[in-house]
Order: sequence, then structure tokens, then C-alpha cells
Amino acid sequence: MMQNTDSHLSNAKNLSQKTDTVTDQQVLIAGGGHVGLSFALLLANHGIASTLLEKNIYPSISPKYDNNRSHYLDSRNTALSRRTVQIYQEIGLWDELQSHACRIDAVQISEQGSFGRAKLNKAEEKVESFGQVIENAWLGRKLLLAAQQAPLITLIDNANVSAVTQKADGVTLSFSYNGNVAHEQQLQASVLVACDGRDSTVRQLLDIGTTTYDYQQTAIVGVVETDKAHEHVAIERFSPAGPLAVLPLTDPEGDGNDEYQQGFRRSVVWVCPTGEEKRYLEDDAHFLQTLQQAFGQRAGTFVAAGRRGAYPLTRVLADKQVEGRCVIMGNAAHTLHPVAGQGFNLCMRDAHVLAQMLNAQVLKGADMGDPTLLKRYEKARLSDQKRVIRFCDAVVHGFTHPNPAIKLARNVALVAFDKLPNIKPLVATYAMGLKS
Ligand SMILES: Cc1cc2nc3c(=O)[nH]c(=O)nc-3n(C[C@H](O)[C@H](O)[C@H](O)COP(=O)(O)OP(=O)(O)OC[C@H]3O[C@@H](n4cnc5c(N)ncnc54)[C@H](O)[C@@H]3O)c2cc1C
Repeated sequence: MMQNTDSHLSNAKNLSQKTDTVTDQQVLIAGGGHVGLSFALLLANHGIASTLLEKNIYPSISPKYDNNRSHYLDSRNTALSRRTVQIYQEIGLWDELQSHACRIDAVQISEQGSFGRAKLNKAEEKVESFGQVIENAWLGRKLLLAAQQAPLITLIDNANVSAVTQKADGVTLSFSYNGNVAHEQQLQASVLVACDGRDSTVRQLLDIGTTTYDYQQTAIVGVVETDKAHEHVAIERFSPAGPLAVLPLTDPEGDGNDEYQQGFRRSVVWVCPTGEEKRYLEDDAHFLQTLQQAFGQRAGTFVAAGRRGAYPLTRVLADKQVEGRCVIMGNAAHTLHPVAGQGFNLCMRDAHVLAQMLNAQVLKGADMGDPTLLKRYEKARLSDQKRVIRFCDAVVHGFTHPNPAIKLARNVALVAFDKLPNIKPLVATYAMGLKS
């Protein structure tokens, strides 16, 4: 599917016409973050054409200069589950991503100042790995490059979606291009998939409400260096301030799965009460000292901290994910707490299922935007989504509750988890996204 051309945004349409009609059997995607780009690539793998509109201007990248990393999206790192890796393998993109990813061979879970701890090990669970950690800068760059090179994907960046109109036989999307709000453009297709993030414009235009919950926590995310090699171990630790995770990362250059990596770089997600983030962001020494206190010597000594970003945490769930010919997907459908690294992986499973259902519709010669089909998609995905949402909330609330009885119960639960033979494989399977 991926062709090795040297095109940049050359797939972009000529936007000079007032109204531009995409052929009936095409898909419109609003929002070109990691989910929008991945969904377009999944469709292209089935031979389905799509047009993707992105509000921001994409950086100019080319396969010729692929060694230059650009932090064009954000400073986060994403833990990709086994299932997400399988999906990228299916569309032929994993080889590209793997050279910037680092496997997780073991997971350690513990609570600061308590006795409970648990360990998951790939040999015991008989798995290849528990997932792979990749810097968002690399993930975004590779997805963008692949989408730019796919002839079936038309990327229009600098395009801000402003209106959605639905008729019995199609959906029309209006957008301003290059900031020109006085001259709106329009595109029509049989189905629109909104991947435009937590504050989704499309969701608002369709009048779909949300259920939101402010965790009053902010995630500080960045890269640190320790004097002890990570040996592919992910450490999840629950501190009185909130949950935190230290994940293995690649060396600055080269393949994180290569045995010759030094392995001193780690990704940190530190969750603190909102309002306390400023000092963690600005004061390296304070940040390193806080990590050291929370982790003890589990990760060795924290010796250096890189650039950090702050993300206020709110759970946002769309009241529905389908309205007529429109599907709400990605963070626009469900924005979750990052504690268990599940959000993007859940979005990928949604995207994979919808792409398959649309493909089956095309093979039947039927309408891809058939609202009954889209409702079937929504129903099919609900149980996996509910399970992940419940899991994330249970981890956040269960591990931060100050009540001593609850604290004792969770430590007993951690010990039981570590000792009981049948629980670990089940939880590992769910966490790897292999069961939905
Ligand atoms: C700190 C943190 C750590 C995380 N770690 C993990 C992890 O380890 N594993 C995991 O699975 N998940 C993780 N997640 C979750 C993951 O980051 C999200 O699920 C994922 O980024 C969602 O991507 P998205 O494309 O749906 O949304 P976004 O990344 O928000 O992309 C939306 C896109 O739509 C565009 N857009 C918005 N409005 C318009 C408009 N009007 N017109 C056109 N375009 C528009 C935006 O410019 C943007 O590019 C983490 C989240 C956080 C906050």
C-alpha cells in the first residue's frame, strides 16, 4: 500500500472551487492527529479512499530526511499495546515504527509506603512483550509520512471544520482554508468520521452532548535519564499525590529493541494535583528529586530531565458516537485518564473495526454511510470501551483513595494479584488489548 514517492502534501486537492464534491464512496475524516491519520491508513489498506482535514499546518517532511526528528505534535510518549502493534503490522507500518520503539518485557506495580507489589513478566505470561513505547514525535512523523505517500489519502491541512449538514444520501462538511473564513469550502461524502479531539468541533456541530469529569489532576510528561539501565521494565507506582509511571525508551539514536542499546532513557508520566505543575515543569532539580523520593532506587538514580509538557486530565465521553452518517472517534468519542496507557490503544481498536465494517459494505456494493451500519459499529464497540473506561477509573480512584481501609484492601489485592495463578494472564491479556 505504501508507495515510496517523494510527495509532501501533494495529495491536497485544488481548493479554488467553491464546492468540491468527493465521490460517493469516499470517507471524510475531520482531524488528522494520530487517530485520524491511522484511520485513513487503515481505510487505504482496504482500498478505500479518504479525504482528511486537519486544522494545524503539518510540517514539511520527506523520506529523504527521515533522520531529522520533528516534535511536531507533542512531547508525550505512547505505550502501544500488543493489539495496536498487530494492527500496524497488518497495514505494513510496524517495521517503520519499530525502529523507534522500545519493548516492555516486564511490568512492576507498587505503592509508595506500602507492602503490596505485583510483577508481570513476559516469560511467565508466555508473550513476546507487553507492548512497545514510542515517542509521539516519531509516531506522528511516521504516520504523516505514510499518509502523504498513500495515493488513496488526500490530506488538507490548515483547514478548520466549521459546519456539517446531513441529507438522506450524504454528508457535507464546510471548512475555512488558510484562515479564510469569508470563503468557506465544502466537501461531500457518504460518511464523515470525526477524529478532531477532546473538544471536537464536529461533535458540537452535531449537538452531541458529553459527560465530563475533571480529575483535578495534571499529567507532567517528559523524558528522563537514570544511571541504571531500564532493561525493558515498566514501573507503575502509586504515590499519595497520584499515579506515576516510568517506561523504557530507545536511546536517542537507533532501535530500542536492539540488544546493544544502553537503555538509560525513560519516559515519565507524573500525575500531580492541578495547580502544582509549575514547579515540576520549570525546576529540573525539584522534578528529579520528587521522582527519586517516589521511586526509591527501583529505577536507579534520576540524573537528568528533558523538556516536559503538562496535560490537565478530564474524562470526556460523548453521549453517542453515531449521528446519521457521522461517526465520532478517538478522543472526540472518549478521552480517558492516561494512568494505564489505554486511550490511544482503545481508539485503534475502534478504528480497526470501523474500517473492516466499511470495507465489508464496499464489497457488498452497499452504502458506507448507511446509518444502520454505523449504529451497528457503535453497538459493537461499546463493551470494550466500557471495560477500559471502568478499568482506568478503578485504577485512578482505587489507588488514590486516602481511606486506610481502602489502602489496606488495595495492597492485599496487589499481593493476591501477584500470587494467584489465573488472574495475571487474564489482566495481561486485557492490558495488551488482545481481548475486547
Ligand atoms: C499524558 C498523556 C499520556 C498518554 N499516554 C498514552 C499511552 O501511553 N497509551 C495510550 O494508548 N494512550 C495514551 N494517551 C492517550 C492518547 O494520547 C490519546 O488517546 C490520543 O492522542 C487521541 O488522539 P486523537 O487523534 O483522537 O486526538 P488529538 O490528538 O487531540 O487529535 C485531534 C486532531 O484534530 C484536529 N482538529 C481539532 N479541531 C479541528 C477542526 N475544527 N478542524 C480540523 N481539525 C481539527 C487537531 O488539530 C488535532 O490534530 C495519553 C494521553 C495523555 C494526556
